[in-house]
Amino acid sequence: MAGSAWRGGRSAGLYRRARRRIPRGVNSPVRYYGPHPLFVGRAEGPHVWDADGRRYVDLCCGYGAVVLGHARREIVGAAARAAARGPLFCAPTEAEVELSEEISSLYPSAERVRLVNTGGEATMAAVRLARGFTGKDKVIKFDGCYHGAHDSMLAAAGSGSADAAPSSAGVPAGAARDTVVVPFNDMVALEGAVGRCGGDLAGVIMEPVMGNMGVIPPERGFLRAVRRITRAAGVPLVFDETITGFRLSEGGAQKAYGVRPDVTTLGKALGGGFPIAAVCGRADIMESLAPAGPVYQASTFAGNPVSVAAALASVRVIRRRAGRMYPELRRKAAALASAASDAAAAAGLPHAVNAAASMFQVFFADGPVRDAAGARGSDRAAFARMFGALLSGGIYAAPSGSEAAMITAAHGEAELRRAAEAYHPAMREAARGR
Ligand SMILES: *Cc1c(COP(=O)(O)O)cnc(C)c1O
Repeated sequence: MAGSAWRGGRSAGLYRRARRRIPRGVNSPVRYYGPHPLFVGRAEGPHVWDADGRRYVDLCCGYGAVVLGHARREIVGAAARAAARGPLFCAPTEAEVELSEEISSLYPSAERVRLVNTGGEATMAAVRLARGFTGKDKVIKFDGCYHGAHDSMLAAAGSGSADAAPSSAGVPAGAARDTVVVPFNDMVALEGAVGRCGGDLAGVIMEPVMGNMGVIPPERGFLRAVRRITRAAGVPLVFDETITGFRLSEGGAQKAYGVRPDVTTLGKALGGGFPIAAVCGRADIMESLAPAGPVYQASTFAGNPVSVAAALASVRVIRRRAGRMYPELRRKAAALASAASDAAAAAGLPHAVNAAASMFQVFFADGPVRDAAGARGSDRAAFARMFGALLSGGIYAAPSGSEAAMITAAHGEAELRRAAEAYHPAMREAARGR
């Protein structure tokens, strides 16, 4: 299991085949890394096994989707039973009602819930909902927050102007023009942008804890300030809790920080590994969705019985165990983050480690990292060397420093010790050639 043999083997051969039919051999860009990605055969609890049968401690955890551990019996069993009853009806089901009630009871801001399939679908609906509800066009987002791969959110701050430019080819300038990008943790910049948008502002969308630029928590009072500013402007505040939902706490970041948004998107950990997401929020806003209201949103696979059964099973385990599970996750992740920090210090690497509950990330930077500019200024080549050395040490982490290291409730002391030890050679490797 340890050793540097992850390179080559079946993964290398599969990658050569994959490249002939799949762009860069992967079905989502962050999965690619050189010389070839690890092909995974199975996962259970805190572990994944590669195509050659080697076992790794997983710190990627489905980019946050897996919070109870891989292939948890209650979740997989519920999904299998639902599949056997027929995987798709495209008609309302009792289980959908139960899941929506569970979500509303854990997220009091979720007075209405609409189920979709992916986080990107949920945020696309949330942005359209904010615009449709207010009848305005401009949406403010924060630099470095990721809200899925749809046009209006693939926007980056343009130089010198308030309006954003497309951050992907194929996004029309017009789609990005109504998105305004401001730095995270900067309430003065937010106030300025709200003022410039004036009567054109439809809403503000944010990750309450950034999880797509490494991990960047909100500074003290920042979320409250955003809440105050959006309330004063009379526009919806959307918390994109696709990562933080069921990960920071059973009630997400909004419970952990005590700030109530108007609209929330949930995804990733909602389904315990199955594809399901939700857009939810204030009744008056949510009732603007079709067919009751004028904001169109629809999906064939929304609320499909297999994903709903998995989500219901997962949410019920989480509800039962939350009181012990989240403090324990927090303690374990903090210990691992500090082990990573100690290893970086021992290797003489300037670094910052940011953590929030069960997620953390290492930045090879000279000072604290509090926004996207800070994260972008960190040494990515050193991160890539650390990542490769972790894999060689039997630890499968997210391949990009823009993602987060995560743990699950299935990570025991033995796995955490293995991971902590693996950071030492990994940091020495990261320091090489600097
Ligand atoms: C992952 C993610 C999304 C997109 O979710 P998909 O299921 O990949 O479409 C949106 N917002 C945030 C905060 C995410 O982390």
